[in-house]
Amino acid sequence: MRKGEFAYEGKAKKIYKTDDPKQLLVEFKDDATAFDGVKKDRLQDKGILNNRLSAIFFRLLEEKGIETHYIETISEREMLVKALDIIPVEVIVRNIAAGSISKRLGIEEGIKLKKTVLEFSLKDDALHDPMINHYHIYALDLATAEEMAVIEEAALHINTILIPYLEQKGITLVDFKLEFGRHQGRVILGDEISPDTCRFWDSSSGEKLDKDRFRRDLGGVVDAYREVLRRLEGGDNPALES
Ligand code: UDP
Repeated sequence: MRKGEFAYEGKAKKIYKTDDPKQLLVEFKDDATAFDGVKKDRLQDKGILNNRLSAIFFRLLEEKGIETHYIETISEREMLVKALDIIPVEVIVRNIAAGSISKRLGIEEGIKLKKTVLEFSLKDDALHDPMINHYHIYALDLATAEEMAVIEEAALHINTILIPYLEQKGITLVDFKLEFGRHQGRVILGDEISPDTCRFWDSSSGEKLDKDRFRRDLGGVVDAYREVLRRLEGGDNPALES
């Protein structure tokens, strides 16, 4: 694999082409943004941690039979992935009320939902990722009903894999966001799984171990991400020293 020309820059990642048109290189940046890019900062080593954490989650999911875009880790900040035709629908999976659902529906943060909630948003920063439903998805031809069935089943399956895996490490999975894309006729998981895209709470103290530390100015953002990695990798790891 040879790193090719720069292809695209997102808020937290840069994408490069490779010599294989079916593969891309994802570089995780230290940039953090919130509130549609209004709040911005650079958090030293966040990209390294998210690259490691995403790789751990993708490998776990692959082991459990979920196809992801992850191929291999290339360097501290880079992973090789399958090139996807991204479906512009963000899928949010919620186990416990927090963030926008709490505000929108007046549910206190921390209340366990009686049933897992799936929500969909149009992936469009300029429109602030508005929430959409199946009618919008089909009316705008964003995905087919067959694709949505695959996506929903995968999202719920991923949740049932991640909840016990994290609970065993003392982390409660509150909610998370997934993105899917088409690759050689299949719909597979893309993007990242990291504390930037999930809410992780310490199971005993309730302490936030995710991007809410940045959104809410709680401090210790990178230390919290490092703590998640420490728990997932287990044991002493000199690479985790700050
Ligand atoms: N999320 C994300 N990207 C987005 C919106 C949400 O990764 O553009 C994640 C967020 O980190 C949280 C979950 O999806 O884990 C639910 O987010 P929510 O709708 O509560 O949004 P927010 O609190 O960011 O407004």
